[in-house]
Amino acid sequence: MTDDRLEHVAGLVCVICEQTYPAEEAGYVCRECGNEGILDVRYDYDLVGARLSRESLAADRNMTMWRYRPLMPVAADAAVPPLTVGWTPTYDAPRLAGTLGLTKVWVKDEGRQPTASLKDRASAMAIVKAREAGAEVVTTASTGNAAAALSGLSASVGQKNVIFVPESAPQAKIAQLLAYGSTVALVKGNYGDAFNLCMKASAEYGWYNRNTGFNPYMTEGKKTAGLEILEQLEWEVPDAIFVSVGDGSIIGGIHKAMKDALGLGWIDHTPRIFGIQAAGSDYLVQAFENDEDVLTKAPIAADTVADSISADLPRDRIKAMAAVRETDGAYLRVSDDEILAAVPVLARGSGVFAEPAGAAAYAGLVAAVERGFVGASDRVVVLSTGSGLKDVASAMKAVTAAGTEPMVIAPTLEALKDALAQRAND
Ligand SMILES: *Cc1c(COP(=O)(O)O)cnc(C)c1O
Ligand SMILES: [Zn+2]
Repeated sequence: MTDDRLEHVAGLVCVICEQTYPAEEAGYVCRECGNEGILDVRYDYDLVGARLSRESLAADRNMTMWRYRPLMPVAADAAVPPLTVGWTPTYDAPRLAGTLGLTKVWVKDEGRQPTASLKDRASAMAIVKAREAGAEVVTTASTGNAAAALSGLSASVGQKNVIFVPESAPQAKIAQLLAYGSTVALVKGNYGDAFNLCMKASAEYGWYNRNTGFNPYMTEGKKTAGLEILEQLEWEVPDAIFVSVGDGSIIGGIHKAMKDALGLGWIDHTPRIFGIQAAGSDYLVQAFENDEDVLTKAPIAADTVADSISADLPRDRIKAMAAVRETDGAYLRVSDDEILAAVPVLARGSGVFAEPAGAAAYAGLVAAVERGFVGASDRVVVLSTGSGLKDVASAMKAVTAAGTEPMVIAPTLEALKDALAQRAND
């Protein structure tokens, strides 16, 4: 790689010791701090600003995440995977806003991505970086969605890949991996076990490593969701953004988008960012409430129905904590029951059917309203990170808990009339 192809990248900065590495010399992590020393990509905003502006974006007909390419760590002429990633809709949801007593609620539907979760944004970036590095094989560990995303994006370009997921991952996610033709290791253990094994395998075999909270470029893919929110709201900064959090990479990406937009003068302040965790996987909520140092806080034993946000030790926890602290947001926990209850509420109130981890962000908004973190004058975005079709078993649990049952009837008008009458009486 030559310097001038990435001349807009000022360097990669360690989140712990702040050592700066030039783009062409940076490894995955800081050489001094090891695996905790995640790197943050910094840009030359003067150079980026000369190539990309609110006006140039308005005229750009490339409706994918790559419309922000001058603000991404990829060369102008790098080939990108053919699947359409990004520019997911941000829906105005007035009925949800009315129910919650808020001025505005928008739902950004990441279930619309090619493999049905926000992870496509990171995995598309991984493919570009892996090819730039000349990697033969790319690998990741995942609770399921990052894996499905890497698997699908790899299939789109014929890239060999090896995937590590917990054996307990939802069937739909495993089916995606197998359909896309990945080499799949179902690990007898949790996400942490899959992660550690993937790290060892990648070191052993020299595979390109896409792991979340290790590969510094994943945040740069995920941040495009935040840039889209700003652009889709016509640069009128919302008051708050609600994001569900496992490893903390998505929330770090949303924060990064806001910092970039601020640095480029596209916005004049950042929204408050709220991180939502499941009560059974609340490492960052604990650290936030007790003011603990996330570098030294021990892992927890995570357990939640929202598999995508189940993390014993959030890998991107330093960026994740900064996202909330630096924007005057908060970390909030919601129970599995509240998460499941949010699935049909979000679906009925906006038309967006989310997997539990996606609906968790909405459950968090409900909790934030109850606790007075947001109120009547606020304009709020809920990031729905993945499709409800990813986990049909949980969706069925959610609708059963909500007391919703189908009418099971004979194929006659009589039977229908009886059933409807019965329903009217209930
Ligand atoms: C990965 C994922 C999350 C959490 O993202 P982190 O970067 O791990 O915090 C939330 N929802 C869905 C659907 C996901 O796939
Ligand atoms: Zn360092």
